[in-house]
Amino acid sequence: MSEMQNYVEDVLNLIKKRDPDQIEFQNTVKEVLTSIVPFLEKNPQYKEQKLLERIVEPERVITFRVAWQDDNNVTHVNRGYRVQMNSAIGPYKGGLRFHPSVNLSILKFLAFEQVFKNSLTTLPIGGGKGGSDFDPKGKSDNEVMKFCQAFMTELYRHIGPHVDVPAGDIGVGGREIGYLFGQYKRIRDAYDSAVLTGKGLTYGGSLTRPEATGYGLLYFVKNMLDDKNISLKDKTVVISGSGNVATYAIEKAQEFGAKVVTCSDSNGYVYDSEGIDLATVKQIKEVQRGRISEYVKYRPNAEYHEGCHGVWSVKCDIALPCATQSEIDLEAAKTLVANGCKVVGEGANMPSTLDAIEYFLNNKILFAPAKAANAGGVSVSALEMSQNSERLSWTFEEVDNKLKGIMENIYRNAKKNAEDFGDPDNLVMGANIAGFKKVAEAMTAQGLV
Ligand code: NDP
Repeated sequence: MSEMQNYVEDVLNLIKKRDPDQIEFQNTVKEVLTSIVPFLEKNPQYKEQKLLERIVEPERVITFRVAWQDDNNVTHVNRGYRVQMNSAIGPYKGGLRFHPSVNLSILKFLAFEQVFKNSLTTLPIGGGKGGSDFDPKGKSDNEVMKFCQAFMTELYRHIGPHVDVPAGDIGVGGREIGYLFGQYKRIRDAYDSAVLTGKGLTYGGSLTRPEATGYGLLYFVKNMLDDKNISLKDKTVVISGSGNVATYAIEKAQEFGAKVVTCSDSNGYVYDSEGIDLATVKQIKEVQRGRISEYVKYRPNAEYHEGCHGVWSVKCDIALPCATQSEIDLEAAKTLVANGCKVVGEGANMPSTLDAIEYFLNNKILFAPAKAANAGGVSVSALEMSQNSERLSWTFEEVDNKLKGIMENIYRNAKKNAEDFGDPDNLVMGANIAGFKKVAEAMTAQGLV
């Protein structure tokens, strides 16, 4: 093993020893650090500076009690978190996730990813992530509001437009951001628009923010395919999830002429051979807040299958996982490849396990890694902050064009670094090196802090 491979191993052992149960965090650190070894070999100063030891340690972790009462006056106690990972290039920025599976390992993994993703956007934002093990599913609007108010009553002291700017993620959409912003404003007694992003259009939100992650994913994939003279037109696409990212990935894929045949939620998936009817999905998920199983009531020719994992056995040219982490394991990766899938674009955060990614790369699948391919959401969040500071609102086309430009830059930057370090189609390595470079340089310039 080379000196830098040994250095990376030492850092991986260090985090394992410190937090042996934080598996998701260990996996993402492993993915990033092992892929940047070629860069570290050319930049040995980072070992002397113990830069890796510093970059894997959050600048601050906040955990807190969230006590609230449901509609029957029963008291519940949840746990709230904010991981402030790295502020070298800007205020901490990253979403809030409300889901029963939320724990510190998952939030540290997401915050670590966010640092490099935000760096790739070229915008001045650091990395963070937060949330709670609260489950908004099945709760009334009033219960969600009470929870959000209780959550913000502690979080408000740790965030601010120049400090830390949360946004949405799984379980946190426009409704939750509205309640969180209302409570922040009440406590602070000031109109700090840029303290949260993903706001409604009537109070400082940006056009194109809801669409940004899904659209951005398709812009990235299109750049990647254009480079290989492959068109999206008439390609069969399998998409998982039916939330924010999946919805707008379906919309843009259809606009580019592809045929999307699936979507899913955590209970099961829908297969529609005629192509997913997006209006029906939006009606079920955004208006009724129902389950995707209801799709077949409106589209009798479609099929519903219990179990979300089965979606990866549907034959396709392109797979776009847009639900959650680790949804494509090695077995699913093998099934996809055996069925002829040639392209994988990650809309969710780390939806492919490490061995699945390795399998895709070894089998010459065109692979668009999450931190590059799904960076459209945070990019438009940063544009929302800019509009808030300017006290102006840009048109849909203006924001969408900026988003297109950003996604193209991210693709070119990842591709160039992949080429420079000798593995031109390895965008995992290219994106990690490109993201790491800027953060490492900024940390070096700012001294030992
Ligand atoms: P939403 O809450 O809007 O939707 C999540 C979707 O994934 C739902 O369909 C949900 O189904 C499904 N899902 C959640 N957990 C699981 C699970 N354990 N197994 C199977 N399906 C599951 O979230 P988003 O669309 O915002 O986020 C999706 C992914 O994209 C996440 O990984 C997120 O971190 C990432 N992301 C989101 C961004 C954004 O701008 N929103 C930006 C960048 C990344 P159900 O209703 O049953 O829970």
